[in-house]
Amino acid sequence: MDKKSILVIEDEEKIARLLELELEYEGYKVTKALDGLEGFHTYKSKIWDLVLLDIMLPGISGIELLRRIRANDSHTPVILLTAKSSVEDKVSGLDLGANDYITKPFQIEELLARVRVAFRNKVTEEVENEEDVLTIANLKVNEKTREVFRGDTSIDLTPREFDLLVYLLVNQRQVLNRDQIVEAVWGYDFIGDTNVVDVYIRYIRKKIDVENLPALIHTVRGVGYVIREMK
Ligand code: CA
Repeated sequence: MDKKSILVIEDEEKIARLLELELEYEGYKVTKALDGLEGFHTYKSKIWDLVLLDIMLPGISGIELLRRIRANDSHTPVILLTAKSSVEDKVSGLDLGANDYITKPFQIEELLARVRVAFRNKVTEEVENEEDVLTIANLKVNEKTREVFRGDTSIDLTPREFDLLVYLLVNQRQVLNRDQIVEAVWGYDFIGDTNVVDVYIRYIRKKIDVENLPALIHTVRGVGYVIREMK
């Protein structure tokens, strides 16, 4: 099984480094971002299994970052790292959809336990909760079972087509350029032409935006692609 990916957004380098070491030791794949803006860009670059988010950050605050994350993505677990004093931040963080928070200074064992709980809850939710299916209009994508439906019609996608569709859906209504898509779906180390994106967009369009149904995948000339419902 692939290692679970965790994005750590934390400006105190010592803490970020400690988290990275401990989480990697537990078998997770860790990426660090040291300020809010970098954190947001890194967050958008791929689908994460979990985000550890410090509230006091330069650039964009953790709370604002959480707001941006939750605007389009209700299922990536987010655990907040908060200072002891900031009760308000905890409350608004939970209101905004954080899954949990942990107060600094924390015991690493406690943090690791919370991470495990967040993953456990995520799995349970995916199995039990219809809301964890990504949808737009009458398109439904179940990340857990990898089933795709447009209306009542089941659609077969290759693994790569599936990943591409999920990436579009997680970022629905946002225009994504080819570089972003290549990085997220093919990986940072992909060598080759970003035209591969156009090819795969054509493949999934053929399967999803079939005749007589409103198109969901749109080309934004000179920029890239977006999945959205045109009303
Ligand atoms: Ca901080």
